[in-house]
Amino acid sequence: MMRRLLAAAALAAASAAQAQSIAITMDDGPNAGSTPRMSAVERNQAILNALARHRVQAALFVTAGFGANTPEGFPLLKAWSDGGHAIANHTVSHPDLEKVSLAEYQRQVLECDRLISTLSGYQKWLRFTYLREGNTPEKIDGMRKFMREHGYRNGHVSVDTSDWRLNEKLVEVLTKDPKADVSAIRTAYLAHIRQRMLAYRELSQTLQGRDIAQVLLVHHNLINAMWLDDVLAEIEGMGWKIITPAEAFADPVYKLDPVRKVAGQSMLLSLGRILGLGLAPGGERLVDDGDFEIAELAKKGL
Ligand SMILES: [Zn+2]
Repeated sequence: MMRRLLAAAALAAASAAQAQSIAITMDDGPNAGSTPRMSAVERNQAILNALARHRVQAALFVTAGFGANTPEGFPLLKAWSDGGHAIANHTVSHPDLEKVSLAEYQRQVLECDRLISTLSGYQKWLRFTYLREGNTPEKIDGMRKFMREHGYRNGHVSVDTSDWRLNEKLVEVLTKDPKADVSAIRTAYLAHIRQRMLAYRELSQTLQGRDIAQVLLVHHNLINAMWLDDVLAEIEGMGWKIITPAEAFADPVYKLDPVRKVAGQSMLLSLGRILGLGLAPGGERLVDDGDFEIAELAKKGL
């Protein structure tokens, strides 16, 4: 009995020392558009409150044209910086590098930079929109040269989620009926985040033989205004340690900076594809845009 207790204590100590870590990053914000149930100010505050409650320092990847570049929207952005969060670049109008010119994409990065560089939380990190880093050598190499010259770090994502897809469903349901029971969407969202975290942890073990510092991507939207608090509680409940984005990006895995064979996905998935790694059982759900959860919700009439 004693030996078993000691073994359990040793295991607990070891897992605490090596707790899987993850940083929280949020894209496309602040979003000043209208949604059911909450105003833009309420959504922004609810997200910041959830982060504060869990003592989490996150990063906001700013899409300036979604509101921050207006006199009414700028205070939403400033509240993030004042709250101690990192403020980084996600362009002005969220263009797709595969559809606009290299020059136009770079112009938008610099325009966003002029707005966010006035804030104390400013970090020279760029997150590519749609996680697409260019579909021609000219664009891929052109952006890498531009980032080197301007001192940008790539704001990589390791745990990619489809929160945006579940958010679309949530908004659709609440637009029809603002009082609708959306608890099934909440349950599906939490299960989705959990599934992605575990699957990417497994992929990190396969690729690196260890638990890397993970970087979670979610968006500045209604679903997180309503349930980010629950997401953070879920992460903590899994025993994962929430670290700052700067701490996560210091993990050497992010220096690998692979050239993507397939655009728009977690850096880990890109590494796996470059190595010719097939998806593990259940891995198809890493690239399904939340189809699994959406199909489950449809069975429930949502
Ligand atoms: Zn985005």
